[in-house]
Amino acid sequence: MPAKIAINGYGTIGKRVADAISLQDDMEVVGVSKMSPNFEARLAIEKGYPLYATTKDVLPKFEQAGIKVHGTLDGLLEDADLVVDATPEESGFKPAYEKAGVKAIWQGGEEHSLTNLSFNAAANYAECLGAKFVRVPSCNTTGLIRTLYPLDVHFGIERVLAVMVRRATDPGDSKRGPINAIEPELEMPSHHGPDVQSVLPKLNIHTIAVKVPTTIMHLHAVSAVLKRKASVTEILDAWRRATRLKFVRGAEGVKSTAQIMEIARDLGRPRSDLYEIAVWDDGVHIVDGTQLYYFQAVHQESDVVPENVDAIRAMLKLETNGRKSIEKTNRALGIGG
Ligand code: NAD
Repeated sequence: MPAKIAINGYGTIGKRVADAISLQDDMEVVGVSKMSPNFEARLAIEKGYPLYATTKDVLPKFEQAGIKVHGTLDGLLEDADLVVDATPEESGFKPAYEKAGVKAIWQGGEEHSLTNLSFNAAANYAECLGAKFVRVPSCNTTGLIRTLYPLDVHFGIERVLAVMVRRATDPGDSKRGPINAIEPELEMPSHHGPDVQSVLPKLNIHTIAVKVPTTIMHLHAVSAVLKRKASVTEILDAWRRATRLKFVRGAEGVKSTAQIMEIARDLGRPRSDLYEIAVWDDGVHIVDGTQLYYFQAVHQESDVVPENVDAIRAMLKLETNGRKSIEKTNRALGIGG
């Protein structure tokens, strides 16, 4: 019997995780819950997901909109083995999940302290086996871990400085900005460094972030000092043996995030999502054997999606071997390598 998964919050992340779960043979979506009867609620029904109102007080809004629901989140939780919470940060559903006795995964908008367990499939799958509450860190954090973890395993990392050029908002949002400004994050380090340490506690990392008027991707410029000397070829080999990375090449016309998203569209994936972190292989440089520089780009709406699927498998012990779970998820989502 496939594991029964509820989705609370059917927005940018929730709808993608729901579709990714539907592609697995060992788990299924038993329902999605929403606060508002908007177009995404209608699309959830069209896709065949049982729709629930999040709370009793929003039920009349669904009735008025003529959108039929199966009940409220409380009822949905009774049917579920695990809930993926993709609501905005600090929505406060932990007591409800505890009351229902259901396992839960939160997203990167939440603090690590909510679960004291943050997940990355390649880095700490085993630590999350059987866990009750887990957080999948943010898109940027997941992106940094994807390239830094294999480097740390193969060469050791002395220290990292990552400068993150962040997208202003997601393509489907017309409210947030900036639309004609560059906004530095004045907090130092930006929250991303400590967030990486929620999965890799020993990594010496400092992060700086600026927000720019783009919606499609984040870009990271990374400087890492390695403990052991390495060549560019060895670095690329280590990443090729890792997972969920996609190499792109400036020499082949991939000059910016625009061409990376064009590749994602050409791949024909749902919503043109790019689950992998894109790394420019001709943008990798080593100075004096240990000083490494590289650039990577993160499709913020989708890189955390396969991580959510693997987190479900670990927490419900559907698969105890992290590598096998990663391979299974990758196969189902069409991720190569
Ligand atoms: P979203 O706004 O696109 O979707 C949120 C969903 O939750 C919507 O269905 C909305 O109706 C519902 N909702 C809104 N307020 C609610 C409330 N008070 N209670 C219950 N439901 C409510 O948000 P998102 O971008 O999918 O973000 C969800 C989580 O994922 C956040 O923690 C965010 O930080 C994280 N995240 C977002 C991105 C991204 O790029 N969008 C990337 C990685 C992680």
